[in-house]
Amino acid sequence: MTAPLFQRVALIGFGLIGGSIARGARLQGLAGEIVATARSAASRARVAELGVVDRVVETNAEVVKDADLVILCIPVGACGEAAQEIAANLKPGAIVSDVGSVKAAVVKAMAEHLPPNVHFVPAHPVAGTENSGPDSGFAELFINRWCILTPPEGTNADAVDKLAAFWSGLGANVEIMTPEHHDKVLAVTSHLPHLIAYTIVGTAEELEGVTRSEVLKFSAGGFRDFTRIAASDPTMWRDVFLNNKDAVLEMLGEFQEDLSKLTRAIRRGDGEALFEHFSRTRVIRRGIVDIGQDEAAADFGRKHPQLGKTAT
Ligand code: NAP
Repeated sequence: MTAPLFQRVALIGFGLIGGSIARGARLQGLAGEIVATARSAASRARVAELGVVDRVVETNAEVVKDADLVILCIPVGACGEAAQEIAANLKPGAIVSDVGSVKAAVVKAMAEHLPPNVHFVPAHPVAGTENSGPDSGFAELFINRWCILTPPEGTNADAVDKLAAFWSGLGANVEIMTPEHHDKVLAVTSHLPHLIAYTIVGTAEELEGVTRSEVLKFSAGGFRDFTRIAASDPTMWRDVFLNNKDAVLEMLGEFQEDLSKLTRAIRRGDGEALFEHFSRTRVIRRGIVDIGQDEAAADFGRKHPQLGKTAT
């Protein structure tokens, strides 16, 4: 048996992402020992009950003691304070990382508290579901997804390689970019789509003349797909928009311009413009399927026990 990559891994926060890292790392033998903590006593008790980590401790300061890898798996708005709480107890030479969906603001908030004798390698696994909490994680979450590392300039190359190996061990592909570029890319691929979903679902909720039961009953017309995204954790997403304000506002500006163009095409009855636009977007969908980031099967056709069929 080969030695684990890290002797002791400490997880601060144990929801979808922390719980998936713990389960995946254990399955793949990436850590000699996994120690975890969560904010509330109820979550800590649940993590202990689940038995997917070696030890559960009460505080952030305690969990990092003697850990070779520390990963913050909490909302981005809480990362600065957590970095401050753990700073004095970090083992010299330890790798400190996070999984936040926003990078520039989090890197800044954490870096100012971390001592110079640790290696700070921020990360964002681009994988998720709309579920949260200690029970929601699963070992396969990161398989064939991307994990973006945004190490500050001058970060120890071995530390970056070691964290990359950890994420590869969890099944992810690893890419490195600057925090600022990450925030732009994710603003369009993740943050804006969530904002749009939150908006549409809110709009449908407040409509006059269409009842709530009609909205639910006829949701397969497209609405249903937005509700999955709009069911994502409110704390996490509040923090994303507060911390990636500039990039989101920039993308939102572009989106509003494009929406105005489509609005005009509809008002003028310009079928050619609509057709041309919808044809271009279809190509993007096919590209995502081609690189294995989704399946070609229609959502509803993927698993349908009544039809006795599971799409391949
Ligand atoms: P989650 O399932 O809601 O779990 C969050 C964890 O953070 C829980 O252990 C929670 O403790 C703790 N927590 C919540 N508020 C806190 C605070 N103010 N201070 C300290 N701890 C706090 O969330 P998640 O989906 O795993 O997200 C965690 C991080 O991963 C976020 O930064 C998010 O941006 C990032 N991320 C999420 C996804 C996704 O799709 N969900 C994908 C990639 C990255 P309690 O249980 O005690 O409340």
